[in-house]
Amino acid sequence: MPDPLLEITGLVTAYGPIEVLHGIDVSVNEGEIVTLVGANGAGKTTLMRCISGVQPLKAGTIRFAGTPLSTIPDHKRAGLGIAQSPEGRQIFGDLSVEENLALGGYHRKDDLGGDMEDVYGHFPILKDKRHHAAGGLSGGQQQMLAIGRAIMGRPKLLLLDEPSMGLAPVLVDQILEVISALRKRGVTLLVVEQNAYAALSIADRGYVMETGKIALSGSARDLISDPRVREAYLGA
Ligand code: ATP
Repeated sequence: MPDPLLEITGLVTAYGPIEVLHGIDVSVNEGEIVTLVGANGAGKTTLMRCISGVQPLKAGTIRFAGTPLSTIPDHKRAGLGIAQSPEGRQIFGDLSVEENLALGGYHRKDDLGGDMEDVYGHFPILKDKRHHAAGGLSGGQQQMLAIGRAIMGRPKLLLLDEPSMGLAPVLVDQILEVISALRKRGVTLLVVEQNAYAALSIADRGYVMETGKIALSGSARDLISDPRVREAYLGA
């Protein structure tokens, strides 16, 4: 069995004196879609912030392809093949859609044109608006742009934080299709979602977080039919 692409063990972190993650173990194998679900405040975003390096750990390790991330400066993490979206979306409102997409591939030396067409294939509205300022896009379109920009970096691992947040149901379906399409192209995905049903319906495995701990984990199929998950997160 090869090492997981992402392996988090015993992760503890705190905001000031308040510990919010109390020993998290999560792993993501190459080629998988893994989802992290849980209620508001469970600690999902904090865990993503730990992976991207903006939140320091008090204990534990995060390994990417076997290498502890603590040995790699934040600005080098994109070069490793980790991309994150939306993370506050980080869209540059004054730049055009196309310029924002190009920034997603800034560390690549090859031609970006093919990947840009690929993003436009997933999200045709972005092509229509490619010369418009990104700040003028709707919330859903900005969400698509953030994901498109992450794709431009050709990540090995894509971290998506609440990709369906604030989107109309038809757009949620579109985002889910893109996530599945990315996996087919060999991208490994860790997806944080409050919309547990949507996330589990496309994932291979899932983790349920409750108040800073992993409460349950298993195959997405088992979780979706688990009475505890159904009652707490699927409104059943
Ligand atoms: P949400 O879906 O609302 O983002 P979440 O599962 O992502 O929820 P976090 O945002 O990671 O949860 O929050 C975990 C805990 O940490 C919560 O108790 C929250 O109040 C606390 N917290 C989050 N950010 C900070 C901060 N900057 N300073 C202090 N406490 C924080």
